[in-house]
Amino acid sequence: MITVLSGGTGTPKLLQGLKEIVDPIDLTIIVNTLENEYFSGVYVSADIDTVLYTMSDMINDELWYGVKDDTFITHDRLNELGCTELLRIGDIDRATKIQKTQLMQRYGLLKACEIQAKGMGIKSKIIPMSEQNSDISIVTDIGELEFHDFLIKHQSKPEVLDVKFSKVAPSDGIIEAIRNSEAVIIGPSNPITSILPILSLDGVRDALKDTYVVAVSPIIGSDAVSGPASKFMKALGVDVSSIGVANLYHDFLDNIVIDNEDSNLKSQLNQIVNKVTITNTIMNSLGVKKNLAQIIIDSIP
Ligand code: GDP
Repeated sequence: MITVLSGGTGTPKLLQGLKEIVDPIDLTIIVNTLENEYFSGVYVSADIDTVLYTMSDMINDELWYGVKDDTFITHDRLNELGCTELLRIGDIDRATKIQKTQLMQRYGLLKACEIQAKGMGIKSKIIPMSEQNSDISIVTDIGELEFHDFLIKHQSKPEVLDVKFSKVAPSDGIIEAIRNSEAVIIGPSNPITSILPILSLDGVRDALKDTYVVAVSPIIGSDAVSGPASKFMKALGVDVSSIGVANLYHDFLDNIVIDNEDSNLKSQLNQIVNKVTITNTIMNSLGVKKNLAQIIIDSIP
């Protein structure tokens, strides 16, 4: 069993490669739930849905959000009615979210995800990191903002001074999944808003110390490949580089995978983590994704 810790963009790209070279039945994916919230009357768990769509080949992998070739009839009609939506939710995507909302109210988020994954023909286990609601806010130079307001309404533009999130309890099965895995892969997701929330769950860091952990850096040079990770890292006083990423995971990390462009960081990184793997980590084709996944799998002792 391989366990993957995931957000909703960088790691799903890697999952597209991983599921081609590892039997999906042997994959458990623990997914960030920090940003989950109700929008337009439905529960939106963006990272979980992205992982569901990735594993069922439905993902819109241009945006890394929603379903490919989706239509927006409901969204457009809501706008016509003056009911503007912060999130542009497609029709098929909305059906997933309506079903999840109903299942969740009946069985809880964990079971809802299990039922939806099965319904989409997914063999891997997809576990939301927590079934509890969490709060996240971004403290900026224009005030404290809700996460989605920062990301969408303000397009991540304000200067970030702090990132605050509440502590939640892990879903059932997370610690067992990590402990029973031959390796844990931390994909190149936002270290602050996608991975730290998972690491902050009780028992996760300790379980990781007893497991082989390989992380792919989402930072190349001194910036994130996409999204606001570098702003968040800077705000929390973390060096915006693969060194900063390694420092965040230093107590359990066995191998860090960095981009060719950062090969000059190897000796510095070796003071933090035993093994440093250098390769192309810009996942702009299935070939690169599969190659990266294969290198990670081959590194497992
Ligand atoms: P979010 O939930 O949408 O914020 O997505 P994630 O947390 O899963 O991923 C965001 C991170 O993915 C960003 O910090 C990017 O730097 C990183 N990322 C996106 N694409 C790539 C890629 O091709 N290679 C690497 N190394 N990182 C990537």
